[in-house]
Amino acid sequence: GCNVQKGQMLVINADVRDYEFVHLCVEEGYKAGAGEVSVNWSSEFNTKKAYEYMTTEALCDIPQWTYDRRAYAQEKGCCFLHVVSSTPGLLKDIDAEKIQAYQTTAGKKFQPLQAYTMANKGQWSIVALPSEGWAKKVFPDMDIQDAMEALWKAILTSVRISEDNDPVAEWEKHNAEILHYSKVLNDYDFKELHFQNGLGTDLTVELVENHIWSGGCEEASNGAIFNPNMPTEENFCMPYKYGVNGKVVATKPLSYQGKLIDDFWMVFEKGKVVEYGAGQDEEALKNLIEYDEGSAYLGEVALISYDSPINDTGILFYNTLFDENASCHLALGRAYPMNVKGGTEMDDDQLKAVGANDSMTHVDFMFGSRDMHVDGVQKDGTVIPVFRNGNFVL
Ligand code: ZN
Ligand code: ZN
Repeated sequence: GCNVQKGQMLVINADVRDYEFVHLCVEEGYKAGAGEVSVNWSSEFNTKKAYEYMTTEALCDIPQWTYDRRAYAQEKGCCFLHVVSSTPGLLKDIDAEKIQAYQTTAGKKFQPLQAYTMANKGQWSIVALPSEGWAKKVFPDMDIQDAMEALWKAILTSVRISEDNDPVAEWEKHNAEILHYSKVLNDYDFKELHFQNGLGTDLTVELVENHIWSGGCEEASNGAIFNPNMPTEENFCMPYKYGVNGKVVATKPLSYQGKLIDDFWMVFEKGKVVEYGAGQDEEALKNLIEYDEGSAYLGEVALISYDSPINDTGILFYNTLFDENASCHLALGRAYPMNVKGGTEMDDDQLKAVGANDSMTHVDFMFGSRDMHVDGVQKDGTVIPVFRNGNFVL
């Protein structure tokens, strides 16, 4: 995923429980030529206890050295490997306001460092490992060993690894397929996309001028090709901040700030969420939408065929890395500069001027369905069917 370059620093972010896997990555990192492999260990247990026992004030007093450590690595031109194995709903009993206060403070504090990965200045990749808490949530009826095994299997299938294949070759083929759809979508240069399904989604998403559809592998500023998400199935683009209108109904629950938002919908007017509701954890949805000015606007629209390997597993992972790749999705918050021509070289004001949304957050939610119809509307009004019955027809 990272494609570590000769002499480059590799930073691994991981939970202590995943030390065995991380040690393998350290070894492989050096073998791939890394000049230094540095691991930032965290612990879900410690995170939860900090939320339980620390005052909000103490939590929000984020030590400067945590910022400096990341800034130092980025100045050295590092690449990042994020290993995730989080327990869904870990923070479900923690006061939402406390979580919000900490995350807003952390978001502000680290904002100057965000552009490095958002604009692909260096390579980065997110991969997942099973954990007992996660496996139990995904397979509640199995005993823990079976659940762990089932989650291993699901993860390996999703990232195209089997005992008898060559995963690197599989990924090259997969990247080429995603690039094909990006090229076709870029050639159509749609003004807007119109989504409709039987659940009540009827949404028009205008795309920014000179938009670029991306997906699969990316190229970092240093020329290294990398896969930011493993798995990945999506082709994604930049909505025009003020050009989203209509209603969207989510089709999968959203794990956010340790809560599980379910059965939710939103209505957009001129890009902004003006109405919303949720059957479960509506307060977490409210916190997300009200996080900052930009979190009530979209920063991403992504197309994924309903018949995707991840969706075919039939598993709800309660983890965005997987669930977002099973279904068409939108993201509230920050847009990816790479989704507009010249975007990675633009400053904040220039991005604002083209209609890119800015926010300290970026949260994907899923709304694809078996009966999803998507039409692309060209600048001259020509309507091109993009999805019929949940799948690409381009
Ligand atoms: Zn996406
Ligand atoms: Zn996203």
